[in-house]
Amino acid sequence: MFNWVDDPDIADAIKKLRREMKDTNSIPAIENSPAGRKLESLARTGAFNNLAERVRVALRPEATASVCRAYIEHGMQQLPQPVKLYYYGPMFRRERPQKGRYRQFYQIGAEVLEANRPDSMKDVTRELLKDAAIDAELIEMLMTFFDKLELTGIELDINSIGHNAPNCRPAYVEKLRGALTQVKDRLGPDSQRRIDTNPLRVLDSKLESEQAVIATLPKIADHLCDECKAHYAAVKSQLELRGIIYKENWRLVRGLDYYMRTTFEITAPGLGSQNAVCGGGRYDSLVELLGGPATKGIGFAIGEDRLILSLQEQSRQAESANAASGASPHQSPVTSHQSLSVYIAWMGQNTYATAVRAAKDLRQAGFSVEVPPTELKFGKALGQADKLGAKFALILGEDEVTEGLWTLKTLDDGAQIKLPEPALIEHLRNSLNPHPL
Ligand code: AMP
Repeated sequence: MFNWVDDPDIADAIKKLRREMKDTNSIPAIENSPAGRKLESLARTGAFNNLAERVRVALRPEATASVCRAYIEHGMQQLPQPVKLYYYGPMFRRERPQKGRYRQFYQIGAEVLEANRPDSMKDVTRELLKDAAIDAELIEMLMTFFDKLELTGIELDINSIGHNAPNCRPAYVEKLRGALTQVKDRLGPDSQRRIDTNPLRVLDSKLESEQAVIATLPKIADHLCDECKAHYAAVKSQLELRGIIYKENWRLVRGLDYYMRTTFEITAPGLGSQNAVCGGGRYDSLVELLGGPATKGIGFAIGEDRLILSLQEQSRQAESANAASGASPHQSPVTSHQSLSVYIAWMGQNTYATAVRAAKDLRQAGFSVEVPPTELKFGKALGQADKLGAKFALILGEDEVTEGLWTLKTLDDGAQIKLPEPALIEHLRNSLNPHPL
C-alpha cells in the first residue's frame, strides 16, 4: 500500500491542511460501543468474530456514521449549530485491490451536522435555502483545499438523488427498475443482480458494453419532488454565486441508502479508472437512524492515497517540464492552524452575495471566516460570533453595502470602526497574524 509519509513535501502539506481544520472527538477504527455495534448494519466491510474474546466488532469502512455516533454520544446538539467536524485516518473495505483501490486506505473527511429543531420545520423554503447554502459552502471549502494543494485538472460533478418520500426517489427507483428489466439481457451479471438489490447502482457502472443502454434510462432530475427540485436549483445557484465550476451528472449516486438530495464527486487526473479523489453527500436521517435526535447532515471524504498519487503524478509531469525548460522546482503552499478570525453578520437578502464574496476574499487572504447560511437577527448573529470565539464581527447591512463602508467590530472590547472594503484585509492583517496562501 502507498505510504504518504514517504514523500516529505506532500506529507507536510497534508499534515498542515489537517491541522487547519478544527479538532474533533476521536472515532475509533474498531467500533464496539452499543451505538457502534448498530453501525454494523450500515458497514460495508461486514463484521467478524473475535474468537478469543467473543466480541463482535466492525472495522470502519468510512467515518460518517462514526462521526454521527460521536455527535450523539457527546451531546453536540447542545453546541452552537451547525457543528463542523473533521476526521482523518484509515478505513477498511473488502474490495478487489487495484491501483487506487485498497482494502486499507486513508480518508480526510468533514461533516456539518445541524439539529433539526421543530420550529425549523415551519418555513420549509427558508430551510431548503439554508441547506443549499451549507452544501455549497462545504463544496467551496473543498475546492479551496484542492486549490491550496495546486492540484490541477480536477472536476466537480454534482447531482440530486431526491429523498425517501413516496413521491420522490422510491417512485423513481421503481421506474428505473422497470426500465432496467426491459433491457436486462443487454446488461452484465453485476448490473442484472442490482436490478433487484439496488437499481441506482447500475448507473455507476463503468462497463463499456453497458454505457449505450444506460444512456437511455430515465433520469432522476425528471422525477424529483418539488422540495428536492427547489433544493437542487438553490444548490446550483449557490455554487454559481461562489464562482464554482461544476458539471451535472445524473448518474452520480451514493452507495448507501441514507444519502439524500446533494451528492457530489471530485475527480483528478493521473489515476486511471479509480479517478475519484473525493465523494460526498447529504444525509439528513442518519443521526436519527443511529438513535439520536432529528439532525441534518452533509459531509465528504477525500481519498488521501489517491490524492497523493495524483499530486505525485502531477509533480512528475511538472519536473519533466521544468527539466526541459530549466525552471526551478515548485514549492507547495501550506497554511497552519488558527482560530476563528471573522464572523460575518449580514442582514438583508441583497447583502448575502457580498457576504459570500467577502468570506472568499478573507479566506483567500488566510483568515478563518464563518458566514451564516441564512439571515440572523443582529443580536443572535453577534451571540453566535461570541460563542464561536471570533475575534471580529464584520457587519454587513444594506447601508454598508450601498455606501461601500463596512463595519468591523472587535468582539472583546466592542470597539467599532468603519472601513472601505479595500482597506479591510490590510486592517485585519495588522491586527491579526494570518497565514496567507
Ligand atoms: P466514499 O466513502 O466511497 O465516498 O469514498 C470517498 C473517497 O475515498 C473516494 O473518492 C476515494 O478517493 C477514496 N476511496 C474509497 N474507497 C477506496 C479504496 N478502497 N481505496 C482507496 N481509496 C478509496
